[in-house]
Amino acid sequence: MKKKLSIVIPAFNEEKNIEFLVSELFKSLSITGYEFELIIIDDGSKDKTLDAIKLQADIYPNVFYIELSKNFGKDYALKAGIDRANGDALITMDADLQHPPHLLPQMLKLWEDGYDIIYTYREEANPHVKGYQRVASKMFYKGINALSDITLENGISDFRLLDQKVVKELKQIDEYEIFFRGMVKWVGFNQIGIPYTPAERHTGEASYSFFRLAKLAIGSIMAFSVRPLYVATGLGLFFSVSAVLYIPYIFISYFAGYDAVSGWASLIATVAFFGGLQLLVLGIIGMYLGKIFLQTKHRPNYIVRSTNLLKTRNDSVRV
Ligand code: UDP
Ligand code: MG
Repeated sequence: MKKKLSIVIPAFNEEKNIEFLVSELFKSLSITGYEFELIIIDDGSKDKTLDAIKLQADIYPNVFYIELSKNFGKDYALKAGIDRANGDALITMDADLQHPPHLLPQMLKLWEDGYDIIYTYREEANPHVKGYQRVASKMFYKGINALSDITLENGISDFRLLDQKVVKELKQIDEYEIFFRGMVKWVGFNQIGIPYTPAERHTGEASYSFFRLAKLAIGSIMAFSVRPLYVATGLGLFFSVSAVLYIPYIFISYFAGYDAVSGWASLIATVAFFGGLQLLVLGIIGMYLGKIFLQTKHRPNYIVRSTNLLKTRNDSVRV
């Protein structure tokens, strides 16, 4: 029997890309000799993305749509697709054709060679990324690598192939905050990374704003690390010990007859500094506490409004 590939694609305001995407994927995949299905998730688009996907689903029996009830974010849209995919391997990629389909044969070959996870990372010199984005992205990867136990390549992407045994593990994830790039590294198995040069977006604009990316970066680091809490504890410890050591100095200076008022400026500086430090430490603890609060609610990662997948297979996953 032919092996089957599930291609999972999150789409947010991509109406103009869908038709081209599907035709490109059919072109690249039909020559590989595998059976395949395309699962395209409409992540609460404001445009006609869903209609564009449905149009393709009407033409091709192996194109499926999942409509989410609102915009949940790329990782959550991916999870919706991953939960419903049943291929022998699963490939995740963007809808804007920045992830070149011509890499698929190479990825499939590595899968046949026995690799369970074939991920891709952007080649260093990426002509389509603006200067400040490149610096911010470097800082993010440095930060997450320093603060957590996983190591992510600079520019690691969401274009990847996963064997079904990896997919089985990912389906079981019950975390409030999902960050697949980290999660896929964390699950282990037999992994290999290949570099790629991203293409220009086919049409449209990238949809992540600076603030959304910053929020995502902090969230991703916190999802994989409690080390910032250690930093907070360390800082607190260091300054408490310093403060204790300061006491003998006060006594000595008192008995030596120094004028106490002369210390006013340094006192205020110290108070302000410790005030700031305490707020910082409380802030870090508060952020983690907030995440625990959200996790304990056990809300679903996404909510499906409609899909044509149910009609075609037994779907035990919550819809
Ligand atoms: N995307 C999504 N939900 C969102 C934002 C983006 O599903 O809230 C999808 C988008 O349609 C695309 C992929 O995620 O297929 C990557 O998004 P984008 O091209 O905006 O980001 P970048 O290329 O900068 O990583
Ligand atoms: Mg893009």
